Amino acid sequence: MEESRGIPRCRTWNFNRNAKLESVTTHLTISGTISKITANLDHRDKRPTIPLARGDPSHSPCFRTTPIAEDAIISAVRSAQFNSYAPRFGLLPARRAIAEYLSRDLPCKLSPDDVFLTVGCKQAIKIVISALALPRANILLPRPAYPFYDSYATQYGVEARYCDLIPERNWEIDLDSVESVADENTVAIVIINPGNPCGNVFTYEQLAKVAETARDLGILVISDEVYGHLTFGNNPFVPMGVFGSVVPVITVGSISKRWVVPGWRLGWLVTCDHKGILKEAKIVDHIKNCRDVSSSPATFIQGAIPQILGNTSEDFFNKTIELLKQAADICYERIKEIDCITCPCKPEGSMFVMVKMNLSLLEDILDDMDFCCKLAKEESVVILPGSAVGWTNWLRITFAIEPSSLEEGLGRLVLLTYAEGLKLSYRGTDPHVLQRQNKQGNLVIGSCTNPNTLSLCIFYGVLSLLHSIEYDDLNVEDLGGLQIGE
Ligand SMILES: *Cc1c(COP(=O)(O)O)cnc(C)c1O
Repeated sequence: MEESRGIPRCRTWNFNRNAKLESVTTHLTISGTISKITANLDHRDKRPTIPLARGDPSHSPCFRTTPIAEDAIISAVRSAQFNSYAPRFGLLPARRAIAEYLSRDLPCKLSPDDVFLTVGCKQAIKIVISALALPRANILLPRPAYPFYDSYATQYGVEARYCDLIPERNWEIDLDSVESVADENTVAIVIINPGNPCGNVFTYEQLAKVAETARDLGILVISDEVYGHLTFGNNPFVPMGVFGSVVPVITVGSISKRWVVPGWRLGWLVTCDHKGILKEAKIVDHIKNCRDVSSSPATFIQGAIPQILGNTSEDFFNKTIELLKQAADICYERIKEIDCITCPCKPEGSMFVMVKMNLSLLEDILDDMDFCCKLAKEESVVILPGSAVGWTNWLRITFAIEPSSLEEGLGRLVLLTYAEGLKLSYRGTDPHVLQRQNKQGNLVIGSCTNPNTLSLCIFYGVLSLLHSIEYDDLNVEDLGGLQIGE
């Protein structure tokens, strides 16, 4: 062995790849999956890319946040009062404002001491999981779910166990499975309400059952309410803290979604624990310690929070809800037209819908990832494969974008499914905009640059003609030059 300054020289480096870390950072994150899919985008496609994967509507002008929030930030910065480090768990007026904001929907008032400010809801998730990471601990996660619970559990050595959500029952949690997977090392159950990725909203009765089940199992409930109040169906939003006298509840949330400012990175972790059980078990101390070793949200954002939470008008919230409701309707109606994709429940909250692929109708598609990669490549539409949220061969679609882009994106999704379903080739000229009618007889306008896809739309029109349905808008002349089949 070579020596250098008396130290024997190794022939290999001591640092190396870490398979566990790779699983946390690439396989279990939405961004990691999205970047794999966007790598397939064809830059020769002149059409705009339609982003239906990430739940961040702040890019769409129609979802711009309220001027109240923008002005609050500007005044906070200009006041020069928020240039220093913030106190340990956050500025008191900010914690008080959050306690008051959440207490509006609760039977008992929260105190500022129940509130910890965090860098977005994501950091609140990280802190709560790290605070619960006893040796051998396991945690119950819904499936499908927002994947960061899994990532942080892996990171902190907490075993993730899964309770399926039931699509046929409006994505209720299968509480029988909860009882069968829990054991004496189970510390908590996570619920996400309104749901990501399913767009469901739990009823009061279902939440009451979750609370009772958790109490019987001796575990706490972590309630992710980052989409709190973003509901537009039959079920109103009920915060889990309502059951804080039945079972200890830790609620995590942020301004990211309701105010459409995910880049501002302000969130909270709140204990709703009327009987002081978390304090007694030292969980509150663990949370404080974990908070201490993490970074804090920017002080001027904390300074702006009382104005943001206190002064935002109902009009702003109603407008957002109205937009989401319309978008959810468009999404649901469009997907109904596609044979190879089914939507088990109309979304009633959050910004997402989970739909199931019927692979037997999609020739040449291996799985959800393959479908999403082809969709990006052929049609410049980005959606999230269900495998990124725990369910293979499903797809998660966000509808929180400009309605015209949503229509365009779903139209292209239709085109791809026909293309993949019918396996034909195109030999004709290339009109850029094609009119055709779908199965229900509605006129669909699709613009395509992909000749393969285009031919299929025309072919579909011919099929429909042969089946003698009325097609006034389809011009048979357009079909000249097209030969069907290989
Ligand atoms: C977006 C999201 C978060 C993260 O929220 P931030 O405030 O942006 O950190 C947490 N949970 C769920 C379910 C989400 O969809």
